[in-house]
Amino acid sequence: MRIAVLGTGYVGLSTGVCLAEIGHHVICIDVDERKIATLKQGKSPIYEPGLEELLIKNSSAGRLVFTASHKYALNEADIIIIAVGTPQSDDGQADLRYIEQAAKDLAEHIVRDSIVVIKSTVPVGTNDYIKQLIFAHLKNKVKFRMVSNPEFLRQGSAIQDTLKADRIIIGCEEIEASNIIQEMYRPLNVPFLLTDARSAEMIKYASNAFLAMKISFINGIANLCEAVGADVVDVATGMGLDKRIGSAFLNAGIGYGGSCFPKDVKALLHTSKEHGMPLSLLVETIAINEEQQELLVKKALNRFGTLTGKKIAMLGLSFKPETDDMREAPSIRISRALTALGAEVTAYDPVAVTNARQVIGDVITYADAPIKAANGADALFIVTEWEEFRKLDVKALLDVMKHRIIFDGRNCLAEEVLQECGTIEYCSVGRPAVI
Ligand code: NAD
Repeated sequence: MRIAVLGTGYVGLSTGVCLAEIGHHVICIDVDERKIATLKQGKSPIYEPGLEELLIKNSSAGRLVFTASHKYALNEADIIIIAVGTPQSDDGQADLRYIEQAAKDLAEHIVRDSIVVIKSTVPVGTNDYIKQLIFAHLKNKVKFRMVSNPEFLRQGSAIQDTLKADRIIIGCEEIEASNIIQEMYRPLNVPFLLTDARSAEMIKYASNAFLAMKISFINGIANLCEAVGADVVDVATGMGLDKRIGSAFLNAGIGYGGSCFPKDVKALLHTSKEHGMPLSLLVETIAINEEQQELLVKKALNRFGTLTGKKIAMLGLSFKPETDDMREAPSIRISRALTALGAEVTAYDPVAVTNARQVIGDVITYADAPIKAANGADALFIVTEWEEFRKLDVKALLDVMKHRIIFDGRNCLAEEVLQECGTIEYCSVGRPAVI
């Protein structure tokens, strides 16, 4: 099939590369010409494991092409996938300006009958709205049909999640269009759920809100565990063994971040309020998360009395491991809170420093190795659970620090590692402190 993908971000690029990998001819379009220039050189503008290999393989095979020209890309496409960003507006609702522009670009340049697939996360009713928008701006006499096909990939495992998804949601009232999209995905051998567009749109928000709620729930339990002397890791393991609950998303820590959960929970809350039925569970989910992001700062303040002049080594900047994405990363709020209290922060991250500099700026300094960040530090904060932090020579870090104190915001250091450290103050989330 000939497919055009609008937007080469985390979702559009992963989707384009994977559709080429299963044999389709894919043209990816982006308005960001620098991104397109990078992609044309066979390089990925984002860090995503396995992506660059598939990009090079499929570009060399001639199945994957990049362009900044909508005219060129839409000339031959039978299926057009919209995967542009839908960030958050100031009032919490989804900002649809990019998808509106993508719809207008598309309306101007489609020259053949096609299927328009909305993969971006959009509020209920947006597929209908975009259909009207395209119709109103159509330049040529062509027919197009709409399909809602929300995306569920996780950054850090986007390729695997796309190739081995749990399910593919196809929201479409027209059977022929639905069949064609099923055919497009058929080689992936993933179960389909066929529904209408509004239900498909809601499935995406309800899924993300539920996962975010699970995280805030276990974080609330973690804080209570600390108060009553229980261990949240054992509590979560015990809960997760119950098949009705499941163990995923029950890792206590300093809260969720990223480009999806924060904005999607707020957008769903906005929709619920708009319809006069506010989902108060989501109000609590957001409140717990925002408070949790400052947990380590509060613990450090409690421990030292003041943070003025204290040196803090921060390990991890990206919102989760295996990505360079800094959108809504807890490290941002933590850096700002620490520096506002007069602390000096030196941070290390395996891949996110370049992006972090743009968001956090020079109020903190950046190191190119954990040991350099730890040098002379009063305390070490673990903010992102990168695999390399689990394997750290923690003793070596403690030996160069001023005080042997660790605040682990992701509960990622194993007991055996701590036992080899000698004297240490280790403070994690929802577990008794080790002193
Ligand atoms: P992103 O910001 O990484 O990428 C969006 C891309 O679209 C950018 O490169 C931008 O330049 C491009 N773009 C904007 N307007 C355009 C236009 N008119 N034509 C062509 N390109 C245009 O966004 P993302 O993280 O890939 O997310 C895309 C959508 O998918 C969002 O709605 C998001 O909520 C959803 N989603 C994201 C994830 C994730 O993990 N990132 C997972 C599931 C769903």
